[in-house]
Amino acid sequence: MQIPKKLLPSDGRFGSGPSKVPHEAMEALASSSVIGTSHRQEPVRALVGSVREQLRALFSLPDDYEVVLGVGGSTAFFDAATFGLVRERSQHLAFGEFGAKFAKATSRAPFLGEPTVLSSEPGTHPDAQAESGIDVYAWTHNETSTGVTAPVRRVEGADADSLVVIDGTSAAGGIPVDITQSDVYFFAPQKALASDAGLWFAIMSPAALARVEEIATSGRWIPAFLDLAAAVESSRKDQTYNTPPLASLFWTDHQLRWIHDNGGLPWSVSRCEDSSSRLYGWAEQSSYATPFVADPGKQSPTVVTIDLAGVEASAVSAALRDNGIVDVDGYRGLGRNQLRIATFPAIEPDDVSALARCLDYVVEQLG
Ligand SMILES: *Cc1c(COP(=O)(O)O)cnc(C)c1O
Repeated sequence: MQIPKKLLPSDGRFGSGPSKVPHEAMEALASSSVIGTSHRQEPVRALVGSVREQLRALFSLPDDYEVVLGVGGSTAFFDAATFGLVRERSQHLAFGEFGAKFAKATSRAPFLGEPTVLSSEPGTHPDAQAESGIDVYAWTHNETSTGVTAPVRRVEGADADSLVVIDGTSAAGGIPVDITQSDVYFFAPQKALASDAGLWFAIMSPAALARVEEIATSGRWIPAFLDLAAAVESSRKDQTYNTPPLASLFWTDHQLRWIHDNGGLPWSVSRCEDSSSRLYGWAEQSSYATPFVADPGKQSPTVVTIDLAGVEASAVSAALRDNGIVDVDGYRGLGRNQLRIATFPAIEPDDVSALARCLDYVVEQLG
């Protein structure tokens, strides 16, 4: 099936991660001489410093919050947090793949007590429940697997020194957040920050930094690669414990600069809201498409999930792929007749409208 050229988006990458890296960013990398140089020397350290500074500005961080980074992505951070942030017991909200993975990491740790895991039907989210003895409350700001967004806020009635640890991986840069409502806000940059994988960033409060220090000196065995105290120490020197993916750092820096030049987080957030509302609005009008997340307050502005009726989502995504529009398949684990479309800041709102027109075209042709 050939979609008429005039209907096609200017860029067909709508994947929720890895996600679109703009061509200008890739060209900027090609003409940079930072790639292939030592991460212990000035050019790379200046790049790390710039990323840390820009994240500080993006989230309007209080002076005593710190930007920590390490190698391995958000999945590595689940393990780093298991070793270095949970003192005894954590509570997890599991409303999709990623929150469930974090819960699994702590539940398998032989040195921790059994976590509490609160789950809910896909397409919704549970709320954290204050519970005595819980020292980490963890959930996902934006469940990339289902397209549900959950608020970032303190847990009323929780133990005084408990921490709120938020996986902001597909939210950071696209969904507003009051960072002071969390102690750790961590993410990888290959989602909303238009970069490549292999890094994690964690914005840490003084309480989180104190917890890292407390556990690191408690005698618990912590693998060096997952040692948050080492990551904090390296980050303060604008370095990482081991070699970072330099292109990912370069593109993260590039994207943050682009966001800042255009007005910062409020601007990138409004761009995602514009793009996602075009899709939700289109689905509501459509005879064959419905937003999967029924509650508008929980519909993600960065990852839009759409259920289809009367047409196979796999046939639709295959026809789109033949025309250069890629990665709109629903999350495998969810097993629904669904499309999942990223509306990250790097994605042009007009391309999102073009995608909706292409969907209508493909479905009409398939019918
Ligand atoms: C993609 C994703 C992860 C995993 O990130 P990796 O960098 O691939 O380990 C974790 N949490 C969320 C919410 C994600 O979207």
